[in-house]
Amino acid sequence: MTPILPGSTIGILGSGQLGRMLALEARRMGYRVHVFSPEPDSPAGQIADVEYVAEYTDTEAARDFASGVDVVTLEFENIAFEVAKAIEEVKPMRPRPEVLHTTQHRLREKTFLKNGGFPVTPFRRVTNEAELSAAIAELGLPCVLKTAGFGYDGKGQAKVNTAEEAATAFKSLGTDEAILEAFISFEKEISVVAARGLDGSFVPFVPVWNTHRHHILDVTLAPAPIPAELAKEAVDIAKGVMEALECVGVLCVEFFVTNDGKLLINELAPRPHNSGHWTIDACVTNQFEQQLRAVCAMPLGEATMNRPNAGMVNLLGDIWANGTPQWDLLLRDARLKLHLYGKAEARKGRKMGHVNIVGDTPAEVAGKALRVKNILGIEQ
Ligand code: AMP
Repeated sequence: MTPILPGSTIGILGSGQLGRMLALEARRMGYRVHVFSPEPDSPAGQIADVEYVAEYTDTEAARDFASGVDVVTLEFENIAFEVAKAIEEVKPMRPRPEVLHTTQHRLREKTFLKNGGFPVTPFRRVTNEAELSAAIAELGLPCVLKTAGFGYDGKGQAKVNTAEEAATAFKSLGTDEAILEAFISFEKEISVVAARGLDGSFVPFVPVWNTHRHHILDVTLAPAPIPAELAKEAVDIAKGVMEALECVGVLCVEFFVTNDGKLLINELAPRPHNSGHWTIDACVTNQFEQQLRAVCAMPLGEATMNRPNAGMVNLLGDIWANGTPQWDLLLRDARLKLHLYGKAEARKGRKMGHVNIVGDTPAEVAGKALRVKNILGIEQ
């Protein structure tokens, strides 16, 4: 457990906004940063000392990349298991490749959770139409059909109301392995972002309330307005999941809070998460610093909030439709913090940045989130 001290080099797999914010923290703390991804001039590459451009499937390039750094971590979990294993032979990889293997595949992830006794959305594996019909008979309608692997932000999934719709959706997913889930009519969605150190230390952020638009995170409010016992239960589950996975780093557990007040895990992400961006401006230690501390075998930081309430509004490419948004108008509120990711092209649905909000009451932060959306023309 030798700590990897500032001055050392962090290797990051993936070079999007999560990598960028991780790289910014790493630089602040005096680390050097190399990023690995197929994309040149990437959000993280703009901040890194070295932007290593290669395909995620290129094992030799990944080994070469690893040989130039002191520890490898990630901002993106869809790295092939074999590539992660190859990296691990060269340098410590945190979280370990097995964590990726489990969490990059919805079916493996849900099976792991179910076998571990964690509460998870009822699901069935579906590889053909006969299994699809049997799964519908067991789970009932409506339900949600998803590809088994490599999905995010609602991509590769469809809500189906009838057996015919399910058959059509299965064909159009174009996969020979899918997962059928019961449709959960939830009261709200919450998440817990937490860090776990090499020594087993565990530090959670408060559970937060997430609302989505078109399957993409829209607003996060912290802390989630839920009973204290439910918040504790969510944090305990996150701790249990990280321990069962032997996950070192930051992990996010996304939950549904059902209409009868129970928690069901929807998804895991073994990395900093969009629903943890508010921590940058509202916590003693943010999720990116926590990831660095964990993967460098340094003590974890305190995750308490500097203010009673906080929030985040995601900025998607849609708001560039009529030119550059009016940032000056937005920043008339001196408590708002603008974060932009350095992406040249503002495509519809593309995550371009976010606005963080701090405040003294839930109503103040929720009100400001609405105002941010009004000023920027984000549909409510
Ligand atoms: P995912 O990509 O699986 O996280 O799904 C994206 C969003 O779709 C979730 O945050 C939910 O809002 C919704 N969703 C996914 N699965 C279900 C489900 N089984 N029941 C109800 N809504 C779901």
